[in-house]
Amino acid sequence: MSTAGLKGINAVGHLGWVEVKCRICARKLDVTLDIIYACSYCKDKYEAYFCPADARRLHYRCPFCGRELQPITPWIIQQRRRQM
Ligand SMILES: [Zn+2]
Ligand SMILES: [Zn+2]
Repeated sequence: MSTAGLKGINAVGHLGWVEVKCRICARKLDVTLDIIYACSYCKDKYEAYFCPADARRLHYRCPFCGRELQPITPWIIQQRRRQM
């Protein structure tokens, strides 16, 4: 009656995407370093990622669906904070 097996392992897979392009100005954005705004509904369909400057110009609204853009916090910062 032993419950072998570690189920709670946090499998952090490798990042499939590290770099995205701003949909407006085509500037390259690094998801590990830059704050990027994205529409969670359109990011897969239209690659709706935006640099902070353009996100502001769009009033933080997705030009495709009109929903609010969500800031993506660089994950590496989150991880570093946890380790410190
Ligand atoms: Zn831009
Ligand atoms: Zn959208």
